Amino acid sequence: MAASHQVSKVVVVGGGIFGVSSAVHLARLGIETVLVNDGPLAKGASGRSLAWINSARRRSAEYHRLRMIGIDRYRSLSARCPDAAWLRFDGGLTWDADDASNEIADVFAHEKRLGYDAQHLSADAIRLVTPGVCASAVTPQGAIFNAGEGWVDLPSLIEILIAEFVERGGQVVTEAGSATVTVANGRATGVTTTSGISFAANAVLLATGADVPRMVAVAGQRIADGTPIALLVRTKPVDLPLRAVLNTPRVAIRPTPDGALALDSAWSEKEVVVNPDGTYRVKASTIQGLLDEASNVLDGHPKLELESYGVGPKPIPGDGEPVFGQLREIEGYYVAFSHSGATLGLIAGELLATEIATGTEHPLLASFRPSRFSLQPANSPRNGM
Ligand SMILES: Cc1cc2nc3c(=O)[nH]c(=O)nc-3n(C[C@H](O)[C@H](O)[C@H](O)COP(=O)(O)OP(=O)(O)OC[C@H]3O[C@@H](n4cnc5c(N)ncnc54)[C@H](O)[C@@H]3O)c2cc1C
Repeated sequence: MAASHQVSKVVVVGGGIFGVSSAVHLARLGIETVLVNDGPLAKGASGRSLAWINSARRRSAEYHRLRMIGIDRYRSLSARCPDAAWLRFDGGLTWDADDASNEIADVFAHEKRLGYDAQHLSADAIRLVTPGVCASAVTPQGAIFNAGEGWVDLPSLIEILIAEFVERGGQVVTEAGSATVTVANGRATGVTTTSGISFAANAVLLATGADVPRMVAVAGQRIADGTPIALLVRTKPVDLPLRAVLNTPRVAIRPTPDGALALDSAWSEKEVVVNPDGTYRVKASTIQGLLDEASNVLDGHPKLELESYGVGPKPIPGDGEPVFGQLREIEGYYVAFSHSGATLGLIAGELLATEIATGTEHPLLASFRPSRFSLQPANSPRNGM
């Protein structure tokens, strides 16, 4: 396959972390690459992500392995940029509700079996390991501290990767209108946009986040979609000692580069109202509720104020696992569609770019091919998240 494979020009559609990471890796491999985005870069999920870098809790062995290698790529980047305010490895702290759903002991045992760096801490011991947490908010079952976890500010990372992409000769087209992949005789031939621009290419990578399933359906392909609407609230900067990412029953919290906090939760995203015209309405009570929940778990219960919020789809495949690689039925048509795109952003871009450039499938992506959806009946989940 690699011998007859000749890719000299690639169009990447989507200016989120998967598109940008893949584009820069293609440019590093010497492939002429155009990145096309409908609006400004990072305007999708990558611009409103909690972006906790982790492989905590349970998932398939293959997905865990890919995430661990994804974390490793961030560690390499962190070693090159030790002072980066946009990439920190200060650990993650997780606790569950004090009810029958509490899995902390089982999750800890599972993580230890995998060799995932984990400490099971009582509420009182937390302050010796990571600062800024209100011990009385932690449930009696205790918390897990994962020292190897971190967070990334994706818009900052995207800006840095795009600068390298352009320096290497890559072309970025933003505000291009909605793009469509053109297909002729069973292979991708390029991209056209609603603003009337066309790009010819030997291969196209569709990295349009939550739009991927709908867009491949136009080409007669099926990728199961489990995308929910998600809400990320950003506070004003606040002087706190918190360093770790917190995952608690009512709120997840991570620090931001400017000394503020980013917050999300499962309950608050369910309160988002989707209007009949497809726009979203976020209730003031939801935002205040999230700010209050965050204050409750922080030492000293600081007053948190809203700076801004982001709302929209959080791309999640129907079976919860990533979807990476070439569509089996359309040569040269590649896709990237996954949850945990912060954790996977660097490694997915690297592996996809290598596959596109060489035509050789990488074994690390073998479990995540889009063809699994055309081979499986609808609604057949393989794994938990
Ligand atoms: C609230 C929230 C919390 C999250 N928490 C975490 C976490 O803790 N850890 C983690 O690892 N991940 C997390 N994620 C997931 C992660 O942020 C996403 O997986 C990742 O950002 C997806 O990147 P993407 O490039 O696939 O999509 P996006 O960032 O959505 O980018 C897609 C781009 O394509 C463009 N586009 C769409 N359609 C078209 C078209 N037809 N033509 C041209 N351009 C188009 C869009 O404008 C957008 O710029 C979270 C996400 C959300 C929303």
